[in-house]
Amino acid sequence: MSKNFKPAYRKQKMVMSTSVKVIIILLCVLVVTLLAFLIKIILSKALDPNIVYPPDSIAETYAADPRTEATEAVTDPEEQGIKVRAIDKTKFDTKTGSLVLVNKDTAYTLPQSVSLVNLYDSLHDNFSLASASEELAKDAYDALCKMCSAYAERTGYCPIMVTSGYRNEEQQQAFYDNYVVNPSDKEYVELPGYSDHHTGLGFDMKLYEKDGSSYSYGRYATERASWLVENHKYYGFIMRYPANKGSFTGIEGESNHFRYVGVPHSVYITENNICLEEYLTLIKNYTYSDPLYITAENDEYCVWYCGGNNVYVPKNEEYSVSGDNLGGFIVTVKL
Ligand SMILES: [Zn+2]
Repeated sequence: MSKNFKPAYRKQKMVMSTSVKVIIILLCVLVVTLLAFLIKIILSKALDPNIVYPPDSIAETYAADPRTEATEAVTDPEEQGIKVRAIDKTKFDTKTGSLVLVNKDTAYTLPQSVSLVNLYDSLHDNFSLASASEELAKDAYDALCKMCSAYAERTGYCPIMVTSGYRNEEQQQAFYDNYVVNPSDKEYVELPGYSDHHTGLGFDMKLYEKDGSSYSYGRYATERASWLVENHKYYGFIMRYPANKGSFTGIEGESNHFRYVGVPHSVYITENNICLEEYLTLIKNYTYSDPLYITAENDEYCVWYCGGNNVYVPKNEEYSVSGDNLGGFIVTVKL
């Protein structure tokens, strides 16, 4: 029995040993196959002519991914336009700036912060005055000097005569009393407190020739002052009371009254045949994330309106802020 037992034991031991060997061999084959597969992949990548080494950094690749940029633009409205910062509107005065509105429904008194220039004391070579007491706000005076110099340079002589600039309420009352002889005269003059002349940005003018003759701007402008007709918009001036806008302005056409509103507003208003009232209504539709773009000669601008508690101004670009005398502010940005 013992003889039979021993060979049976040895046989069992031998069988188990063979199974282990088979498993080890199979594992080795598997590992070798995997290694071969990995080596093949690595070699194929290394030899790919389209891959440039060293590859771009992960950060650069991320920045260049258009999907990443699109996502940021959608989640952050500022990315679609100009970067802005908010300033509390109490830091500004709605009664200062080139776009303040004054008409028969909108009263105005010039803030003390606005400085006036006496045109006689600062008389310019290229325009004349009807009286020594004429005054204008500094911005309007500077623009008038610039425009008259350009006019004289282009044509040899600038015939502009300022006949009436800034008026306070007392002066407007005297003007009104003197002007209104017949009831129909009231269509062409504002009551004290409601005159564009209170801004210091509006003035009446006529054309004064070298021989001493003088002409109304409106009637003779095209013939005698075509340069002025074509170019006043580029110096920030508009005709404040166009003939067909009486329902908006309250004045049934007064062609000799210029008003400084500044570039690019003057260009937009003139080229679109609208009046200041229409422009200030239109501009309320534009925000900093969706501004109005205006081209004036070779310069690009964008304009937007702020009617809430904050005035949004650009972080980086040159800008100006004007009140509209209605509680809102207009931001103008030179691009
Ligand atoms: Zn006037």
